[in-house]
Amino acid sequence: MAMTAPAGASCADPAAATAGYRQRAADVARRLGATPGYAQAHRWILQPEAPALARVGTDIYGRPLRLAPRATTALRAMVAAAARENVALQAVSGFRSFGYQRRLLRRKLDHGVTLAAVLAVNTLPGFSEHHSGCALDLTTPGVRAADAAFAATPAFAWLQRHAADYGFALSYPRGNGKGIDFEPWHWRYRGPPAAPADLAAVTDRPAWRCHACALAVPSPLPLPPSPPCRALPPQPRPTHAWARPARCSTRWAVPTTTPPLP
Ligand SMILES: [Zn+2]
Repeated sequence: MAMTAPAGASCADPAAATAGYRQRAADVARRLGATPGYAQAHRWILQPEAPALARVGTDIYGRPLRLAPRATTALRAMVAAAARENVALQAVSGFRSFGYQRRLLRRKLDHGVTLAAVLAVNTLPGFSEHHSGCALDLTTPGVRAADAAFAATPAFAWLQRHAADYGFALSYPRGNGKGIDFEPWHWRYRGPPAAPADLAAVTDRPAWRCHACALAVPSPLPLPPSPPCRALPPQPRPTHAWARPARCSTRWAVPTTTPPLP
């Protein structure tokens, strides 16, 4: 039987943003001095707050680090894998509420930072990926939080090679076109989207299970693009874009049965 994630385990769905939330974001943006339509002009997507959060240790400041449950599982697996290669990944900041983001921006403005400078590194409240419970900022020992120097570290190089294996992606690369500076520290767990409706008929089939995040993919859904893993028998080449690890990993295994070849 295919596994399904418990309710609230996933990141907040941008489609779940209510009209009231949208209005609240617009009102706060106006009070902060942003020009009307600033977020839309920069293709920012409204980010509802996570429906559920799980504690995943503490951040570098000793504060509780909270993420959506699925993201915590993936993060633990990623941090452990990095540690096995002597790469230390440290969390700077995970879930942040709408109110936290509003106070963060207000504080910077009150300290004399221009709104333009603030919005080059922080989105307006309501548009922060940190609201979703699936984004977090990372650093490594010896590098200050949210410092571009992180891009020159072995930790960042490791993330570039392996983060996709755990479902994480860099949100703001150089030239991201969203008006946000290059943020090598900001990663978002993208995970797999909900199963497409046309797969409903096969959800009672045996499942492929992901070691990293416990996600199950109903067979005979083809596996994501990946060369055969060394630890596993050769996998059928996939055609479906349900998840896209960047390279071979040991993420995929067959827990109970071997799915038929497509
Ligand atoms: Zn961030």
